[in-house]
Amino acid sequence: MQGLMMDMPLLVSGILQHAARHHGDTEIVSRRTEGDIHRYTYADCERRARRLADALTREGVSIGDRVATLAWNGYRHLELYYAVGGMGAVIHTINPRLHPEQIAWIVNHAGDVHLAFDTTFLPIVEAIAPHCPNVRSWIAMVDEERQPASDKVANLVNYERLLAGGAEGYRWPEIDERSAVGLCYTSGTTGNPKGAMYTHRSTVLHAYASALPDAMGASSRDCILPVVPMFHVNAWGLPYSCPLVGAKLVLPGAQLDGKSLYELFEAEGVTYSAGVPTVWLGLLQYVGQAGLKFSTFSRTVIGGSACPPAMIRAFQEQYGVEVIHAWGMTEMSPLGTLCRLQNKHLKLPPEAQQRLLEKQGHVIFGVDLKIVDDDDRELPWDGKTFGNLLARGPWVLREYFRGEGGDPLKYDADGRGWFPTGDVATIDADGYMQITDRSKDVIKSGGEWISTIDLENLAMAHPAVANAAVIGVPHPKWDERPLLVVVRKAQAEATREELLAFYEGKVAKWWIPDDVRFVDAIPLGATGKILKTKLREQFRDYRLPGA
Ligand code: AMP
Repeated sequence: MQGLMMDMPLLVSGILQHAARHHGDTEIVSRRTEGDIHRYTYADCERRARRLADALTREGVSIGDRVATLAWNGYRHLELYYAVGGMGAVIHTINPRLHPEQIAWIVNHAGDVHLAFDTTFLPIVEAIAPHCPNVRSWIAMVDEERQPASDKVANLVNYERLLAGGAEGYRWPEIDERSAVGLCYTSGTTGNPKGAMYTHRSTVLHAYASALPDAMGASSRDCILPVVPMFHVNAWGLPYSCPLVGAKLVLPGAQLDGKSLYELFEAEGVTYSAGVPTVWLGLLQYVGQAGLKFSTFSRTVIGGSACPPAMIRAFQEQYGVEVIHAWGMTEMSPLGTLCRLQNKHLKLPPEAQQRLLEKQGHVIFGVDLKIVDDDDRELPWDGKTFGNLLARGPWVLREYFRGEGGDPLKYDADGRGWFPTGDVATIDADGYMQITDRSKDVIKSGGEWISTIDLENLAMAHPAVANAAVIGVPHPKWDERPLLVVVRKAQAEATREELLAFYEGKVAKWWIPDDVRFVDAIPLGATGKILKTKLREQFRDYRLPGA
């Protein structure tokens, strides 16, 4: 028997309509590439998104067409999210930190028909435009009087002029909730990037789920500043979950250094933020050196790569900011797990609570996880055994865009498909998951696995260490041994011997790295993660002492 409830499709346009209707005067504040602070409301945003959708329709954009962005976090980018997605086309956010050649490849692979960009990225647009024949217009997201000129880009259009040509009377269409709304390519450290295509349904469900109290726990009383870029897996869904709950949104634009962020946090009363560990290094350094405190900032989600326990402690103990460690990936929209304590943990001693909070956490309802060995046999949830992590759920990828790479799923005995995350993890009896490595980064020493994340986390707790990475290097007897690569803090001293001694008593003796190398910088990828492939390349000719 069928139930008798209405069948209203879950559409992203519904989220912004809700925000405009019920939180109409709640502010969206943006630091613009023009240099000033722009402020308006959800009602304004929805009105302009409708005009933009109408203007794009007049430009011939139709259902399923891809419209790309190369843009910082800002109100125009938000309008594009909703105008393009809401009209039934697909918003394709591109990471501007990729190499222009790779960006051109992605634009062509996606079949983008228009590309909107912040003028900071004009040089990229000039470099790729001749190689992207399908892009009908390049839309500069800037005030009309600041419209750039370029003899290298034909069809350079102004965003404000385009928008002004659209009518406010535009009505959001009711489309199939399973139709595509967003496209995001994986960082592609090896091989070509692959596209994850989100649906309206997956996006709305992810927005609901991520706002839950034990997930991000966002509310209409919050003022949220996503440091995580809107070109990195939709800023972890915040452009959807913030209007869904009616939170004030602060979009920091291009200025992501510690000082600029701190000033915006204080000026706008930011309560909540989200970003990868590397951006927080900059902020903590700035507030530490300047002897500052936060007046409203109280919670932050940190993920994208393992959050060093020393960072969790610094935020909590020195600044009273609760850190919510989270894990996810482009193929998972991105949120899979977040780490919050449960009622039964509240009585634990602080040290035990801290150890728990260092994990990547618990799934949100909707995501299911398991760990398996190399023969796909399921492994126990004992918090110790580690294996390949598989995931499934309504916002987990089923297949890459254009079927790239074939069927990515692994099927269980019941025929259910699981997405292999490429991560290696433990899961404890309560379901708390902890990543020990990317499967490609794990060190295999004498047939046993060593977690590079554990070793990096420990190094980061040393007061002289600004950043640390561990890679496996060849060893004649053990196959591979860990090498610790360290960036020292300015004016800080720490010798190789001191750093190696720092591990004693904290990990098994055979886990302690064989050597330490000091470098000026550790290579970071386009999303701020350590590029282990590049680091391994850098140390290709390195030989361990005595090896
Ligand atoms: P991306 O698709 O670029 O967001 O990368 C996803 C990958 O980043 C995951 O598969 C993990 O390897 C890594 N990652 C994300 N969050 C965390 C975390 N909290 N701890 C460790 N690794 C993480």
